[in-house]
Parts: sequence; C-alpha cells; structure tokens
Amino acid sequence: MTTPLFDTLAIIGPGLIGSSIMRAARAKGAVRKIVATSRSPETRKRVVDLGIADEVTETNEEAVKGADLVIVCVPVGVCGEVAKEIGPHLAPGAILSDVGSVKGSIVRDMGPHVPKPVHFVPAHPVAGTEHSGPDAGFAELFENRWCILTPPEGTDKGAVERLASFWRLLGANVETMTPEHHDLVLAITSHLPHLIAYTIVGTADELQTVTRSEVLKFSAGGFRDFTRIAASDPVMWRDIFLANKDGVLEMLGRFNEDIAALTKAIRKGDGAALYDHFARTRAIRRGIIELGQDTEAADFGRPHGHED
Ligand code: NAP
Repeated sequence: MTTPLFDTLAIIGPGLIGSSIMRAARAKGAVRKIVATSRSPETRKRVVDLGIADEVTETNEEAVKGADLVIVCVPVGVCGEVAKEIGPHLAPGAILSDVGSVKGSIVRDMGPHVPKPVHFVPAHPVAGTEHSGPDAGFAELFENRWCILTPPEGTDKGAVERLASFWRLLGANVETMTPEHHDLVLAITSHLPHLIAYTIVGTADELQTVTRSEVLKFSAGGFRDFTRIAASDPVMWRDIFLANKDGVLEMLGRFNEDIAALTKAIRKGDGAALYDHFARTRAIRRGIIELGQDTEAADFGRPHGHED
C-alpha cells in the first residue's frame, strides 16, 4: 500500500463522481480517512450502507472540519453556495477542489469564499456515465481518463502538484489550463454533443408521421446512441448550459454554419462534399481509438464511460 497523499478527504455530494472518488481513493490508499456528506438523509444513509466512507456527517460544516482535501461534487449551480457555507470552517493549508463540468463559473462563484490560507484548485475529471447517485459510482471510473486542473493565477504550485498526484494515483492523466480555455474545449467535446442529443431525441419524440414505437424499434440505426447521452441528469445539464453560456454559444454558432453547409450539399446533390466531410470525420474517430479513449468494439450495448 502507498503512503496516503492526504490525511482526511471530505466529499460533499457523494453521487456518481463523488462516490467514485471515494471508492478509488480507498482502493489506491490515497487518503487515510474518508468523510462524506450529502444534503438528503437518503443519500447519507445509502453511503453508510454501502460502507464507502469512514464517517458520514449530517452537515457540510462538520464534514470539512480538519480535512486536508475537500472536494465539492454537487451540480455546478450550487457550488458557490456550498463554498460560502464551508469557507469559514476549512482548515488552514487545506486544498479545496471540485469536479464541476464548467470551470469559469466555478472560479467566479467559489473563489470569493475561499479564505487565504486555503488552496483553491478547481478540477474536472473528464469521465462519467449517464447514471447518478452513490450506487452508480465505481473505483475504475477515472482510469486512463483526463482530469483537467484550472488553478486561478497565483495558486500555490505545491498544492496544484499535490492534487495532480492524487488524480494520477486514481488512474487519471492530468492537464492544467485556464478556466476559459477549459470551457471552450468542453463546449465542443461535451456540451454541444449533449445539446445535439437532447435536441434530436426531443425532435423524434414530437414526430407525428413516424410513430414513437417505430423510433424505439428501429433505434439501432443511430438514434439509440443519442438516447444514452440524452438520458444524462437534467439538473446537472441545465446547470452546465447556464454556466457555460459563452462557450456553448460560440460553438453552436460554428455548428449552425456547418450544418447549413451540409444541408446545402444534400439539397444540391453534392455527393463529393458529403463524402469529403464524412471521410474527414471518420479519421477523427480513428484518432480517438489510437489515443485509447474508446475501443473498436462494436457498440451492441457494451458498457460505456463517457466524457462529461
Ligand atoms: P449525482 O450523481 O447526481 O450526485 C450529485 C450530488 O450532489 C448528490 O450527493 C446530491 O445530493 C448533491 N446535490 C444535488 N443537488 C444539490 C443541491 N441543490 N444542493 C446540495 N447538494 C446537491 O451527480 P454527478 O454526476 O456525480 O455530478 C456531480 C458534479 O460532477 C457536477 O458538478 C457535474 O458537473 C460533475 N461531473 C459529472 C460528470 C458525469 O458524467 N456525471 C462527469 C464529470 C463531472 P442528494 O443525493 O443528497 O440529493
């Protein structure tokens, strides 16, 4: 067993991501003790029953007292409120982090509540599934996935490196970038694909000429893959689009131009333009497989880890 990197890890919001961090941290011996808390008594009880924490507290305040690593794992829209609540109770020298899928709004909303002797290192593990809650988590979720750190300017380098070591021990590759750049990158790799999936599944649902049972029956034609993404948590995704408005609108503008170009190619019967476009996108898929971020396996209900 490795020497623990931190003494006490406090997780606020032991859902899919929070409980996966707890499971992975325990499996890897990354911390000596794990404390967790959640707003609902049901989730707190579930965490006790699952036995994935050493201690479950009723309040956020109790959870963070004495912890040297605190990770806030709640929806992006409430991270600021949580930071305000726990700020005065954080131990001097502790690292405060989060896992939010948007980073600009996290720095804006949490940053002002972080007291001086605490190191604030926002993070985003780009790994997830469409499931939620403490039962959905698993220790291997972060293996060979990326975790992006977005420390505000002037953050203690030692603290950033300690958090990076924690994520590496959990199996992740770590990269550091500015919150603004993170939000642009994720707008195209995650947020826009989710928006498209939410749109197309909604469009199919409202069709009248093709029945709902036909949509379900013939879903293997491509629709099925969108429904998995469109099944993601509505609160989490509402918060992401509200928080990354600029990044998403920028990418949506480009997307609309490109879809207009493809629409024109179809209308004009321009097979060469369609072929060139599809050949280019096929190469991108090959690149993702070469980078180990997916496999060649045919997609017949195989287990997924997708990137949020
Ligand atoms: P989840 O499984 O739904 O868990 C959410 C946790 O936050 C639960 O403990 C829940 O408490 C708590 N919570 C929800 N609403 C809250 C509120 N209004 N105030 C206080 N606590 C609240 O969610 P998740 O998928 O782990 O996502 C958590 C964070 O990770 C989000 O910021 C998301 O952007 C980010 N993230 C998600 C993914 C993904 O694929 N899912 C990937 C990377 C990052 P109760 O259960 O007690 O209600």
